[in-house]
Amino acid sequence: MKNEWIIPCNRNGLSGCTRRQFLSTAASIGALAGIGAIPFGGLFPKNTFAATPMFEPAYLKLHRSGELADRADALWAVMEDCRLCPRQCGANRHQGETGFCRSSGTGPVIASSHAHFGEEKPLVGRGGSGTVFFSHCSLRCVFCQNWDISQLGRGKRLDHEALAGMMLRLQEMGCHNINLVTPTHYSATILKALGIAAEQGLRLPIVYNTCGWERLEILSLLDGVVDIYLPDFKYWANDKSVRFLSGAQDYPETTRDAILEMHRQVGVARQAADGIIRRGLMIRHLVMPNRSAGSQEIMGWIAENLPNNTYVNIMAQYRPLHKAFDYPEIARKITREEYREVVQKARDLGLDNLDVQGFWWLG
Ligand code: SF4
Repeated sequence: MKNEWIIPCNRNGLSGCTRRQFLSTAASIGALAGIGAIPFGGLFPKNTFAATPMFEPAYLKLHRSGELADRADALWAVMEDCRLCPRQCGANRHQGETGFCRSSGTGPVIASSHAHFGEEKPLVGRGGSGTVFFSHCSLRCVFCQNWDISQLGRGKRLDHEALAGMMLRLQEMGCHNINLVTPTHYSATILKALGIAAEQGLRLPIVYNTCGWERLEILSLLDGVVDIYLPDFKYWANDKSVRFLSGAQDYPETTRDAILEMHRQVGVARQAADGIIRRGLMIRHLVMPNRSAGSQEIMGWIAENLPNNTYVNIMAQYRPLHKAFDYPEIARKITREEYREVVQKARDLGLDNLDVQGFWWLG
């Protein structure tokens, strides 16, 4: 991998740090722990943090029965006339054609893989979230901070054997989960890798860290595979989705249906005694300037359609990047007042499992 890698802090690209910054942070952590800090597999000694002795991830049952391999084959077949995401652009990825997401072929392009300490605390714990950051994206938000990865496709092309090895290495490092960031267009490869990794001892829960824009037909093939769904709910209105999400007019209704299906599959996210979440639905919502995301409506829909203790991370860290300056209504950070009113609305609606962030830096 190239030296100028960004070590992304989350899929929304909201708090990315340079590789140098990451290494500096890692070195500090390493110094505190009395160990050397080496990127990619050497950050922590093997099994420093006890993983999940009593936990069995969902996919093991399917793996034992052979159904995981069948599901992988079913997804693999979809790439011949690709319909893995709601764009359904029909690219023949078996023949190397490039789809709207700009991925071509069947193997994944991966930008980075590491123990990530910037995700939600119940995913990070002490050992970190084992993040695999996939390149390319089917949604292509105009404000994406990681646009060089999601839209230019910066990363390295690998195959599912290599991806399986990456998952096992993250487990050896003591991570609490395998956090697949922007996985939709590589779901077939992911399931093939998961079968190999499960056979070789992978026991960590799978986090499906998605923009939320997912087809129900594809989600049905992930039922019993994914342990934690971590979807965004970005926009409420169709016109805003067209404007900011590269023409994805159906984003609001498709995402609502997808979130309901995700909840049906995995239920409410609950922290275990050690504070770690290993199963359930965790929703992210990024508050945007000028109320452009429809945050109040999104909170209202969650309160009406999901249990009050649904985990909702209300994120404050938006800053304009990539093409955002071409759109006046999102060309600034949010204000404290804009953030506060969304949190207050969620509380007034009775949502009582909110991840509310510090926002001291907001004007
Ligand atoms: S995943 Fe990519 S290639 Fe497949 S339908 Fe979506 S945009 Fe097209």
